[in-house]
Amino acid sequence: MKKTIEIEKRHMPGFFKKSPLSIEHGKGVYVWDENGNKYLDFTAGWGVTCIGHSNDVITDAVYEQAKKIIQNPNSGLTYSPQRAKLLELLTGILPRGLTRVFFTNSGAEANDAAIKLARKITGREVVISTHMSFHGRTISTASATGQEMHRNRFNPLMPGFCFVPYDNPAEMKSAVNSDTAAVILEPVQGEGGVNIPSEDYLAEVSALCIKNGSLLIIDEIQTGFCRTGPMFVSAEKNIKPDILTMAKGIAGGFPFGAFAVTEKISSLLEPGDHGGTYCGNPLGCAVSSAVIAYLIEHRVWENVGNLGKYTVERLNVLKDKYPGVVKNVRGKGLLILMEMSDNETASVTVEKCLNSGLILNLIQGRCIRIIPALNIRKQEVDEGISILESVMAEV
Ligand code: PLP
Repeated sequence: MKKTIEIEKRHMPGFFKKSPLSIEHGKGVYVWDENGNKYLDFTAGWGVTCIGHSNDVITDAVYEQAKKIIQNPNSGLTYSPQRAKLLELLTGILPRGLTRVFFTNSGAEANDAAIKLARKITGREVVISTHMSFHGRTISTASATGQEMHRNRFNPLMPGFCFVPYDNPAEMKSAVNSDTAAVILEPVQGEGGVNIPSEDYLAEVSALCIKNGSLLIIDEIQTGFCRTGPMFVSAEKNIKPDILTMAKGIAGGFPFGAFAVTEKISSLLEPGDHGGTYCGNPLGCAVSSAVIAYLIEHRVWENVGNLGKYTVERLNVLKDKYPGVVKNVRGKGLLILMEMSDNETASVTVEKCLNSGLILNLIQGRCIRIIPALNIRKQEVDEGISILESVMAEV
Protein backbone atom coordinates (compact mmCIF):
# COMPACT_ATOMS: atom_id res chain seq x y z
CA MET A 1 0.00 0.00 0.00
CA LYS A 2 2.86 2.35 0.90
CA LYS A 3 4.47 1.72 -2.49
CA THR A 4 1.24 2.48 -4.39
CA ILE A 5 0.78 5.72 -2.50
CA GLU A 6 4.42 6.74 -3.13
CA ILE A 7 4.11 6.08 -6.88
CA GLU A 8 0.83 8.00 -7.21
CA LYS A 9 2.27 10.89 -5.24
CA ARG A 10 5.43 10.92 -7.36
CA HIS A 11 3.76 10.67 -10.78
CA MET A 12 0.41 12.46 -10.51
CA PRO A 13 -0.31 16.16 -10.32
CA GLY A 14 -1.55 16.93 -6.83
CA PHE A 15 -5.08 18.03 -7.75
CA PHE A 16 -6.66 16.18 -4.82
CA LYS A 17 -5.82 15.70 -1.17
CA LYS A 18 -6.19 11.94 -0.78
CA SER A 19 -6.78 9.70 2.23
CA PRO A 20 -3.83 7.43 3.04
CA LEU A 21 -5.63 4.43 1.59
CA SER A 22 -5.10 2.34 -1.51
CA ILE A 23 -8.29 0.48 -2.38
CA GLU A 24 -7.66 -2.88 -3.98
CA HIS A 25 -11.21 -4.16 -4.49
CA GLY A 26 -14.83 -3.63 -3.52
CA LYS A 27 -18.11 -5.53 -3.16
CA GLY A 28 -21.47 -3.91 -2.54
CA VAL A 29 -21.04 -1.02 -0.11
CA TYR A 30 -17.65 -2.26 1.11
CA VAL A 31 -14.11 -1.76 -0.17
CA TRP A 32 -10.84 -3.37 0.92
CA ASP A 33 -7.40 -1.79 1.02
CA GLU A 34 -4.21 -3.51 -0.13
CA ASN A 35 -3.61 -4.82 3.38
CA GLY A 36 -7.02 -6.49 3.49
CA ASN A 37 -8.70 -3.93 5.79
CA LYS A 38 -12.43 -3.52 5.14
CA TYR A 39 -14.19 -0.13 4.89
CA LEU A 40 -17.81 0.88 4.57
CA ASP A 41 -18.02 3.26 1.60
CA PHE A 42 -20.49 6.14 1.99
CA THR A 43 -19.12 7.89 -1.12
CA ALA A 44 -19.86 5.31 -3.87
CA GLY A 45 -17.06 6.79 -6.00
CA TRP A 46 -18.74 10.24 -5.96
CA GLY A 47 -22.27 8.87 -6.16
CA VAL A 48 -21.47 6.72 -9.17
CA THR A 49 -21.54 3.06 -8.08
CA CYS A 50 -25.31 3.20 -7.59
CA ILE A 51 -25.80 -0.57 -7.45
CA GLY A 52 -22.67 -1.24 -5.39
CA HIS A 53 -19.08 -2.12 -6.18
CA SER A 54 -18.45 -5.13 -8.43
CA ASN A 55 -22.12 -5.95 -8.84
CA ASP A 56 -22.34 -9.16 -10.94
CA VAL A 57 -24.85 -7.43 -13.21
CA ILE A 58 -22.11 -5.01 -14.26
CA THR A 59 -19.19 -7.43 -14.41
CA ASP A 60 -21.26 -9.88 -16.50
CA ALA A 61 -22.34 -7.10 -18.89
CA VAL A 62 -18.73 -5.92 -19.30
CA TYR A 63 -17.48 -9.46 -19.91
CA GLU A 64 -20.22 -10.51 -22.33
CA GLN A 65 -20.07 -7.30 -24.33
CA ALA A 66 -16.25 -7.07 -24.36
CA LYS A 67 -16.19 -10.50 -26.03
CA LYS A 68 -18.46 -9.19 -28.81
CA ILE A 69 -17.36 -5.65 -29.67
CA ILE A 70 -16.20 -2.63 -27.70
CA GLN A 71 -15.98 0.28 -30.10
CA ASN A 72 -18.64 1.38 -32.59
CA PRO A 73 -19.66 4.84 -31.42
CA ASN A 74 -22.67 7.16 -31.74
CA SER A 75 -20.58 9.28 -34.00
CA GLY A 76 -19.57 6.39 -36.24
CA LEU A 77 -20.88 5.15 -39.51
CA THR A 78 -22.85 2.15 -38.29
CA TYR A 79 -25.72 1.26 -35.97
CA SER A 80 -25.44 -0.89 -32.85
CA PRO A 81 -28.00 -3.28 -31.29
CA GLN A 82 -26.60 -2.56 -27.81
CA ARG A 83 -27.14 1.18 -28.33
CA ALA A 84 -30.64 0.63 -29.72
CA LYS A 85 -31.53 -1.49 -26.66
CA LEU A 86 -30.30 1.23 -24.29
CA LEU A 87 -32.11 3.96 -26.23
CA GLU A 88 -35.42 2.13 -25.83
CA LEU A 89 -34.82 1.48 -22.14
CA LEU A 90 -33.68 5.03 -21.37
CA THR A 91 -36.36 6.87 -23.32
CA GLY A 92 -38.88 4.73 -21.41
CA ILE A 93 -37.80 6.24 -18.08
CA LEU A 94 -36.88 9.80 -19.08
CA PRO A 95 -39.25 12.69 -18.34
CA ARG A 96 -42.01 12.90 -20.93
CA GLY A 97 -41.04 14.60 -24.19
CA LEU A 98 -37.33 13.72 -24.06
CA THR A 99 -37.23 11.26 -26.91
CA ARG A 100 -33.77 11.76 -28.46
CA VAL A 101 -30.52 10.81 -26.71
CA PHE A 102 -26.85 11.20 -27.51
CA PHE A 103 -24.32 9.37 -25.32
CA THR A 104 -21.17 10.95 -23.91
CA ASN A 105 -18.23 9.80 -21.79
CA SER A 106 -18.77 12.03 -18.76
CA GLY A 107 -21.09 14.55 -17.17
CA ALA A 108 -19.03 17.58 -18.09
CA GLU A 109 -19.03 16.46 -21.69
CA ALA A 110 -22.85 16.21 -21.68
CA ASN A 111 -23.18 19.71 -20.18
CA ASP A 112 -20.60 21.10 -22.59
CA ALA A 113 -22.65 19.77 -25.51
CA ALA A 114 -25.88 21.12 -24.01
CA ILE A 115 -24.40 24.63 -23.73
CA LYS A 116 -22.93 24.50 -27.22
CA LEU A 117 -26.15 23.25 -28.81
CA ALA A 118 -28.36 25.71 -26.89
CA ARG A 119 -26.33 28.58 -28.36
CA LYS A 120 -26.62 27.18 -31.85
CA ILE A 121 -30.35 26.52 -31.62
CA THR A 122 -31.35 29.87 -30.13
CA GLY A 123 -28.72 31.99 -31.88
CA ARG A 124 -28.25 33.63 -28.46
CA GLU A 125 -25.18 33.76 -26.26
CA VAL A 126 -26.12 34.18 -22.61
CA VAL A 127 -26.38 31.14 -20.35
CA ILE A 128 -27.73 31.70 -16.84
CA SER A 129 -26.52 29.50 -14.04
CA THR A 130 -26.82 29.68 -10.25
CA HIS A 131 -24.56 30.47 -7.31
CA MET A 132 -23.04 27.31 -5.79
CA SER A 133 -23.86 25.23 -8.86
CA PHE A 134 -21.45 22.62 -10.18
CA HIS A 135 -21.52 21.58 -13.83
CA GLY A 136 -18.04 20.15 -14.45
CA ARG A 137 -14.36 20.95 -14.88
CA THR A 138 -13.93 21.56 -18.60
CA ILE A 139 -13.48 25.21 -19.58
CA SER A 140 -17.13 25.70 -20.61
CA THR A 141 -18.57 23.82 -17.63
CA ALA A 142 -16.22 25.61 -15.20
CA SER A 143 -17.52 28.81 -16.82
CA ALA A 144 -21.06 27.60 -16.03
CA THR A 145 -20.18 26.66 -12.44
CA GLY A 146 -21.19 29.15 -9.76
CA GLN A 147 -18.35 28.58 -7.31
CA GLU A 148 -15.26 30.76 -7.34
CA MET A 149 -12.95 27.93 -6.28
CA HIS A 150 -13.70 26.11 -9.55
CA ARG A 151 -13.31 29.24 -11.69
CA ASN A 152 -10.96 31.89 -10.44
CA ARG A 153 -7.63 30.37 -11.49
CA PHE A 154 -8.50 29.67 -15.11
CA ASN A 155 -9.16 33.05 -16.67
CA PRO A 156 -10.21 33.92 -19.24
CA LEU A 157 -13.22 31.68 -18.84
CA MET A 158 -15.77 31.38 -21.64
CA PRO A 159 -17.81 34.56 -22.01
CA GLY A 160 -21.59 34.76 -21.86
CA PHE A 161 -22.36 33.21 -18.46
CA CYS A 162 -24.16 34.96 -15.65
CA PHE A 163 -25.23 33.82 -12.21
CA VAL A 164 -28.21 34.30 -9.93
CA PRO A 165 -28.87 32.97 -6.41
CA TYR A 166 -30.28 29.43 -6.35
CA ASP A 167 -33.91 28.95 -5.34
CA ASN A 168 -34.72 32.60 -5.92
CA PRO A 169 -37.41 32.92 -8.63
CA ALA A 170 -37.47 36.73 -8.43
CA GLU A 171 -33.73 37.03 -9.23
CA MET A 172 -34.12 34.46 -12.00
CA LYS A 173 -37.04 36.45 -13.40
CA SER A 174 -34.99 39.62 -13.58
CA ALA A 175 -32.12 37.78 -15.32
CA VAL A 176 -33.96 35.76 -18.01
CA ASN A 177 -34.86 37.76 -21.12
CA SER A 178 -34.90 37.56 -24.90
CA ASP A 179 -31.06 37.37 -24.97
CA THR A 180 -31.00 34.24 -22.83
CA ALA A 181 -29.96 31.12 -24.73
CA ALA A 182 -30.49 28.82 -21.77
CA VAL A 183 -30.78 28.39 -18.04
CA ILE A 184 -28.70 25.52 -16.67
CA LEU A 185 -29.88 24.15 -13.36
CA GLU A 186 -29.35 21.25 -10.98
CA PRO A 187 -32.74 20.16 -9.54
CA VAL A 188 -30.91 19.68 -6.21
CA GLN A 189 -27.45 21.19 -5.94
CA GLY A 190 -25.09 18.35 -5.07
CA GLU A 191 -21.49 19.44 -4.87
CA GLY A 192 -22.52 22.94 -3.77
CA GLY A 193 -23.92 21.56 -0.51
CA VAL A 194 -27.06 19.44 -1.13
CA ASN A 195 -29.27 22.51 -1.55
CA ILE A 196 -32.89 21.46 -2.02
CA PRO A 197 -35.02 24.18 -3.63
CA SER A 198 -38.57 25.04 -2.66
CA GLU A 199 -41.40 22.99 -4.12
CA ASP A 200 -42.27 25.22 -7.10
CA TYR A 201 -38.83 26.55 -8.03
CA LEU A 202 -38.18 24.30 -11.03
CA ALA A 203 -41.66 24.90 -12.44
CA GLU A 204 -41.20 28.67 -12.06
CA VAL A 205 -37.86 28.63 -13.87
CA SER A 206 -39.36 26.42 -16.57
CA ALA A 207 -42.21 28.90 -17.11
CA LEU A 208 -39.72 31.79 -17.39
CA CYS A 209 -37.73 29.90 -20.03
CA ILE A 210 -40.85 29.14 -22.06
CA LYS A 211 -41.98 32.78 -21.87
CA ASN A 212 -38.63 34.10 -23.10
CA GLY A 213 -37.91 31.45 -25.74
CA SER A 214 -34.89 30.26 -23.72
CA LEU A 215 -33.94 26.61 -23.32
CA LEU A 216 -34.03 24.85 -19.97
CA ILE A 217 -31.05 22.58 -19.41
CA ILE A 218 -31.59 20.39 -16.37
CA ASP A 219 -28.38 18.83 -15.05
CA GLU A 220 -29.41 15.51 -13.48
CA ILE A 221 -25.85 14.19 -13.51
CA GLN A 222 -25.89 13.76 -9.74
CA THR A 223 -29.63 13.49 -9.07
CA GLY A 224 -30.57 11.11 -11.89
CA PHE A 225 -31.11 7.35 -11.74
CA CYS A 226 -32.84 7.30 -8.34
CA ARG A 227 -30.17 9.12 -6.30
CA THR A 228 -32.86 11.29 -4.69
CA GLY A 229 -35.65 8.67 -4.98
CA PRO A 230 -37.39 9.18 -8.33
CA MET A 231 -35.64 8.12 -11.52
CA PHE A 232 -35.32 11.86 -12.35
CA VAL A 233 -36.32 14.86 -10.24
CA SER A 234 -37.65 16.63 -13.36
CA ALA A 235 -40.15 13.80 -13.90
CA GLU A 236 -41.19 13.91 -10.24
CA LYS A 237 -41.76 17.68 -10.49
CA ASN A 238 -43.47 17.27 -13.84
CA ILE A 239 -41.29 19.81 -15.63
CA LYS A 240 -40.22 19.46 -19.23
CA PRO A 241 -36.55 20.30 -19.80
CA ASP A 242 -35.46 21.03 -23.37
CA ILE A 243 -32.18 19.27 -22.63
CA LEU A 244 -31.48 16.89 -19.72
CA THR A 245 -27.92 15.81 -18.92
CA MET A 246 -26.94 12.57 -17.19
CA ALA A 247 -23.85 10.64 -16.06
CA LYS A 248 -22.69 9.09 -12.73
CA GLY A 249 -25.37 6.44 -11.94
CA ILE A 250 -26.16 5.91 -15.63
CA ALA A 251 -23.68 3.03 -15.87
CA GLY A 252 -22.89 2.27 -12.21
CA GLY A 253 -19.19 3.13 -12.48
CA PHE A 254 -18.40 2.60 -16.13
CA PRO A 255 -17.47 6.04 -17.57
CA PHE A 256 -20.59 7.07 -19.44
CA GLY A 257 -23.02 9.97 -19.81
CA ALA A 258 -25.78 11.27 -22.04
CA PHE A 259 -27.91 14.22 -22.98
CA ALA A 260 -31.53 13.90 -23.98
CA VAL A 261 -33.51 16.43 -26.02
CA THR A 262 -37.05 16.91 -27.27
CA GLU A 263 -38.18 16.21 -30.84
CA LYS A 264 -38.30 19.96 -31.43
CA ILE A 265 -34.69 20.51 -30.33
CA SER A 266 -33.56 17.46 -32.27
CA SER A 267 -35.18 18.82 -35.44
CA LEU A 268 -32.96 21.91 -35.16
CA LEU A 269 -29.74 19.91 -34.96
CA GLU A 270 -27.76 19.03 -38.05
CA PRO A 271 -25.07 16.57 -39.13
CA GLY A 272 -21.71 17.62 -37.72
CA ASP A 273 -23.14 19.59 -34.79
CA HIS A 274 -21.73 17.15 -32.28
CA GLY A 275 -19.79 13.91 -31.92
CA GLY A 276 -16.96 12.16 -30.10
CA THR A 277 -14.70 9.19 -30.80
CA TYR A 278 -15.88 6.98 -27.92
CA CYS A 279 -19.39 8.37 -27.40
CA GLY A 280 -22.05 5.67 -27.10
CA ASN A 281 -19.66 2.74 -27.47
CA PRO A 282 -21.46 -0.63 -27.21
CA LEU A 283 -19.55 -1.59 -24.05
CA GLY A 284 -20.86 1.43 -22.14
CA CYS A 285 -24.34 0.90 -23.62
CA ALA A 286 -24.44 -2.73 -22.48
CA VAL A 287 -23.39 -1.78 -18.94
CA SER A 288 -25.84 1.11 -18.78
CA SER A 289 -28.71 -1.14 -19.94
CA ALA A 290 -27.81 -3.67 -17.26
CA VAL A 291 -27.71 -0.99 -14.54
CA ILE A 292 -31.03 0.59 -15.57
CA ALA A 293 -32.68 -2.84 -15.77
CA TYR A 294 -31.42 -3.56 -12.24
CA LEU A 295 -32.79 -0.26 -10.91
CA ILE A 296 -36.19 -1.02 -12.42
CA GLU A 297 -36.31 -4.70 -11.51
CA HIS A 298 -35.36 -4.05 -7.86
CA ARG A 299 -37.55 -0.94 -7.60
CA VAL A 300 -34.47 0.75 -6.14
CA TRP A 301 -36.37 4.02 -5.67
CA GLU A 302 -38.31 2.39 -2.81
CA ASN A 303 -35.13 1.53 -0.94
CA VAL A 304 -33.77 5.04 -1.59
CA GLY A 305 -36.98 6.64 -0.27
CA ASN A 306 -37.12 4.46 2.86
CA LEU A 307 -33.45 4.45 3.77
CA GLY A 308 -32.95 8.10 2.82
CA LYS A 309 -35.66 9.12 5.28
CA TYR A 310 -34.33 6.73 7.91
CA THR A 311 -30.73 8.00 7.55
CA VAL A 312 -31.78 11.64 7.88
CA GLU A 313 -33.85 10.78 10.98
CA ARG A 314 -30.91 8.99 12.59
CA LEU A 315 -28.52 11.81 11.73
CA ASN A 316 -30.95 14.33 13.22
CA VAL A 317 -30.86 12.35 16.46
CA LEU A 318 -27.06 12.73 16.40
CA LYS A 319 -27.46 16.45 15.69
CA ASP A 320 -29.70 16.85 18.76
CA LYS A 321 -27.32 14.81 20.88
CA TYR A 322 -24.16 16.62 19.70
CA PRO A 323 -25.28 20.17 18.83
CA GLY A 324 -21.71 21.44 19.11
CA VAL A 325 -20.62 19.04 16.37
CA VAL A 326 -23.48 18.87 13.85
CA LYS A 327 -25.21 22.08 12.79
CA ASN A 328 -27.64 20.90 10.14
CA VAL A 329 -28.79 17.73 8.37
CA ARG A 330 -30.60 17.76 5.05
CA GLY A 331 -31.19 15.36 2.21
CA LYS A 332 -33.39 14.02 -0.53
CA GLY A 333 -33.30 10.26 -0.97
CA LEU A 334 -29.72 9.09 -0.59
CA LEU A 335 -28.19 12.48 -1.37
CA ILE A 336 -27.62 13.58 2.21
CA LEU A 337 -25.50 16.23 3.88
CA MET A 338 -24.37 16.89 7.42
CA GLU A 339 -23.19 20.41 7.96
CA MET A 340 -20.69 20.36 10.79
CA SER A 341 -20.05 23.20 13.22
CA ASP A 342 -16.78 24.23 11.52
CA ASN A 343 -14.10 23.04 9.07
CA GLU A 344 -11.85 21.60 11.77
CA THR A 345 -14.65 19.49 13.31
CA ALA A 346 -15.65 18.27 9.85
CA SER A 347 -12.16 17.18 8.84
CA VAL A 348 -11.40 15.55 12.21
CA THR A 349 -14.71 13.64 12.00
CA VAL A 350 -13.92 12.41 8.47
CA GLU A 351 -10.40 11.36 9.50
CA LYS A 352 -11.52 9.52 12.63
CA CYS A 353 -14.33 7.77 10.76
CA LEU A 354 -11.79 6.58 8.21
CA ASN A 355 -9.64 5.17 11.00
CA SER A 356 -12.75 3.36 12.25
CA GLY A 357 -13.57 1.91 8.82
CA LEU A 358 -16.03 4.42 7.31
CA ILE A 359 -15.21 6.43 4.18
CA LEU A 360 -16.91 9.84 3.97
CA ASN A 361 -16.80 12.73 1.51
CA LEU A 362 -15.92 16.19 2.82
CA ILE A 363 -17.24 19.08 0.69
CA GLN A 364 -17.31 22.86 1.03
CA GLY A 365 -14.87 22.63 3.95
CA ARG A 366 -17.37 21.86 6.69
CA CYS A 367 -19.95 19.53 5.11
CA ILE A 368 -20.03 15.75 4.97
CA ARG A 369 -21.93 14.39 1.99
CA ILE A 370 -23.41 10.90 2.32
CA ILE A 371 -24.01 9.27 -1.06
CA PRO A 372 -23.81 5.48 -0.65
CA ALA A 373 -24.84 2.83 -3.15
CA LEU A 374 -28.61 2.99 -3.68
CA ASN A 375 -29.10 -0.69 -2.83
CA ILE A 376 -27.49 -0.24 0.60
CA ARG A 377 -29.24 -2.21 3.36
CA LYS A 378 -30.56 -0.92 6.69
CA GLN A 379 -27.95 -2.78 8.73
CA GLU A 380 -25.22 -1.14 6.62
CA VAL A 381 -26.69 2.32 7.26
CA ASP A 382 -26.81 1.44 10.99
CA GLU A 383 -23.20 0.30 10.90
CA GLY A 384 -22.08 3.63 9.39
CA ILE A 385 -24.15 5.69 11.80
CA SER A 386 -22.84 3.84 14.81
CA ILE A 387 -19.26 4.61 13.66
CA LEU A 388 -20.26 8.26 13.20
CA GLU A 389 -21.84 8.33 16.64
CA SER A 390 -18.79 6.98 18.45
CA VAL A 391 -16.55 9.44 16.55
CA MET A 392 -18.87 12.34 17.43
CA ALA A 393 -18.82 11.37 21.10
CA GLU A 394 -15.02 11.62 20.93
CA VAL A 395 -14.96 14.86 18.89
N1 PLP B 1 -22.89 18.16 -13.02
C1 PLP B 1 -23.11 17.78 -11.75
C2 PLP B 1 -24.40 18.17 -11.08
C3 PLP B 1 -22.16 17.03 -11.06
O1 PLP B 1 -22.39 16.66 -9.80
C4 PLP B 1 -20.96 16.66 -11.72
C5 PLP B 1 -19.92 15.89 -11.03
O2 PLP B 1 -19.87 15.81 -9.83
C6 PLP B 1 -20.78 17.07 -13.05
C7 PLP B 1 -21.76 17.83 -13.67
C8 PLP B 1 -19.53 16.71 -13.82
O3 PLP B 1 -19.58 15.36 -14.14
P1 PLP B 1 -18.22 14.59 -14.55
O4 PLP B 1 -17.36 14.59 -13.34
O5 PLP B 1 -18.69 13.22 -14.97
O6 PLP B 1 -17.63 15.34 -15.67
